[in-house]
Amino acid sequence: MPNGQEISESGALWDSCSKNPGHEEFIPVHEFTGKHLARGMNDELFCEELHVLADLVVRFRVQWTSVHRPDGDSYSEYRGTNRLRCGSGYVECSTLSGPKQGQPEMPGVTKSTVGGNIAKNYWTFMVSTASHVVYDTEEANYTKIDFFYDNDESCVLKGSMKTVRPIKVVQSSPKADVCQVLCATDDKSLAKRIKAIDKYLRAHRLIYHKGMRNIVPNFIIKGLYSSSANAIIISHPHGQPKKITVGRVVHSVGGLTFKYKAATCPGSSGAPLFLVDTLYFPPWLGHTHTGSLSQTPTEQINYCNSLGYFL
Ligand SMILES: [Zn+2]
Repeated sequence: MPNGQEISESGALWDSCSKNPGHEEFIPVHEFTGKHLARGMNDELFCEELHVLADLVVRFRVQWTSVHRPDGDSYSEYRGTNRLRCGSGYVECSTLSGPKQGQPEMPGVTKSTVGGNIAKNYWTFMVSTASHVVYDTEEANYTKIDFFYDNDESCVLKGSMKTVRPIKVVQSSPKADVCQVLCATDDKSLAKRIKAIDKYLRAHRLIYHKGMRNIVPNFIIKGLYSSSANAIIISHPHGQPKKITVGRVVHSVGGLTFKYKAATCPGSSGAPLFLVDTLYFPPWLGHTHTGSLSQTPTEQINYCNSLGYFL
């Protein structure tokens, strides 16, 4: 794949993967415990919060390639075709808005975007991914976003997986390789769950980081954004059920872009990168996994090209 981007056409490559044969570093989300974390980070609250954050990680299934992708783009040869590719993304739970009542008022909210019926009540929220996963609204209109795809049983009839459709791309930066899509759902239980997660994160951080806030700037400068921080990636490698990988930051440019050794595979593109210090676990700062500088298990270096919220 050009430029090291980690987008995946299907899950068929999981067994034949040459970058991470066996995928031993990819921990199924429900099996993740404190033992997978470095000493000093493996406390109960820390792990609990990580599992809550994992619920906000979604799979992207994109079944159209925009005719507007430029020459030289990693998918330019597929422009105007319906070749499937998978990526990952992160729900920005604080953007949840609704319920909005009556006929949908926003352009683009149609029967297909809210599950087949024109909703009387619906909610909207933003999801972030990489711009090489979803290039523009033309592609967003042929995209499905899967929540809670955590194991093989998730996607059976009445399984935990829920699927929503994006309405449009609201912000995109191909240079930083980040993109935000606006989604709508008429699923009250999904909206309630997103809202509950947002509430949990707000409350939890006040408790867990009590007394720490005054010294956070020092960590940002000296610790978190240095080359010693831990990097955690939660993603859908090869479009498979959600996995967590843990590694170290090996290079940081101004605390904005990063290289790290947390394992990733095609399909991980667009996943959130969490930077974690032994004493502080900050909220997601907008850093999005971009790709890999190597395709072999040895000295694997992966990178985040985005500038997070400093965009
Ligand atoms: Zn792989």
